[in-house]
Amino acid sequence: MKLKKELAGKKITVLGGARSGIAVAKLLHKSGAHVFVSDSASSDSKKDEINELRRTGIKYEFGQHSSIAHEAELVVLSPGIPVRSELVQSFLRRDIPVLSEIEIAYWFCESPIIAVTGSNGKTTTTTLIGEMLKKKYPQAIVAGNIGKAFSEYVDGSSPNNWAVIEVSSFQLETIDAFHPKQAVVLNFAPNHLNRYDGYEDYLKAKWRITKNLIKEDILIYNAADSKLSEWAEQIDCNIQGFHIKGVENHAAYYSNDTIFINDEKLAGTEAIKIKGKHNYMNVMAASLAALNAGVSREQICEVLRSFEGVEHRLEFVAIKNGITYVNDSKATTVESLGYALQSFNDPIVLITGGQDKGSDFTQLNDLICEHVKAIVLIGTAAEKMINAWRGLAPIYKEESLKNAVNKATEIADEKNIILLSPACASFDMFKDYEDRGRQFKQIVHEIRAA
Ligand code: ADP
Repeated sequence: MKLKKELAGKKITVLGGARSGIAVAKLLHKSGAHVFVSDSASSDSKKDEINELRRTGIKYEFGQHSSIAHEAELVVLSPGIPVRSELVQSFLRRDIPVLSEIEIAYWFCESPIIAVTGSNGKTTTTTLIGEMLKKKYPQAIVAGNIGKAFSEYVDGSSPNNWAVIEVSSFQLETIDAFHPKQAVVLNFAPNHLNRYDGYEDYLKAKWRITKNLIKEDILIYNAADSKLSEWAEQIDCNIQGFHIKGVENHAAYYSNDTIFINDEKLAGTEAIKIKGKHNYMNVMAASLAALNAGVSREQICEVLRSFEGVEHRLEFVAIKNGITYVNDSKATTVESLGYALQSFNDPIVLITGGQDKGSDFTQLNDLICEHVKAIVLIGTAAEKMINAWRGLAPIYKEESLKNAVNKATEIADEKNIILLSPACASFDMFKDYEDRGRQFKQIVHEIRAA
């Protein structure tokens, strides 16, 4: 790719020294660029990253963004740093290009790309597409916002292979030439509104995934979302909608517990291991993408029969005394909790709460009435949740996750589900959602062993 050839000797600052920043720095360094990694976090928390940079001979600074960082001719931005921050704006005012890690990795990627975005379901769908692709392309690349930086994997790419990558709105804000062969947009729901000038602005950032699509490319989108449909119909490429409500003029739809693709049965839900309508949407999107890449229906169905989902997403943990414990720690939005509640027929004792992201919890009132037997709250959003749900179900508040799980166990009867699905961020009590999910599983395993 043209831009890749222009890297040698170029002064490039990578802003943010976390996993994707280090990976892209290494890629650029190998191409002969003068790379400088600059991160305002203190070096104490970055020992591994610093070792890696030392090993590769890449220059860096932690705890500041000094004048050296500002000398860049090109900036690569980590998704954690907002474009509207003064730091980024100071480069943009001087017309210095600011690009995301996925843009750079794209310059090096020889494989056609399937890019997946949306407000919810990205990791599940990306992983599922990866499993399907691997049936036909054992070397398929699965990367992006799923804890594996795209830049780490592009070296092994070839035109006879595929890459599937999860991309966030933050990364899409600073793409330029990034051009997937297939773009998947799962859904639009309010999220991260603290980083945007409103909902429309956030949607537009996500929609940049379609920026470079051409006629031969494919856009897979959720046709049940009116905004998404309206925008999709304006893109001049092969558009493939999927619909959860059996609407037959779409490329994929769900009807009578069955998923149809191009009006032909793909699989009944009894032959799909992951459950819940949200997951059937993910299955439709993934299956369309895999079919477009040449994976056969049989191979897709084989994956659907065995794919158990991703850790911390409606993850089965244990059954004790007839009570099923489920870890949905990754459900950090109201929409995700809503889908989780609809995924079970048995009564739910819900453990929820954490750090509020500005959500309207009353949206869930009907689902709470329908599915929830009792609510056990943790975290700083508790008061807001009590105000939203008072009178809908008995509500308890606990100071720790352990007390919450014990309380839920006390309340639950045989055939009940104890569901951890927080609808909130985790940072008030945990390192991150993974820490929250792991602690939950540990507590449940102790209860099971007792
Ligand atoms: P993301 O990567 O977009 O955060 P994940 O695949 O990690 O999404 O799933 C996170 C949570 O979102 C899951 O625990 C589930 O509750 C919910 N979810 C998954 N898929 C969907 C979907 N298609 N629509 C709405 N919610 C979903």
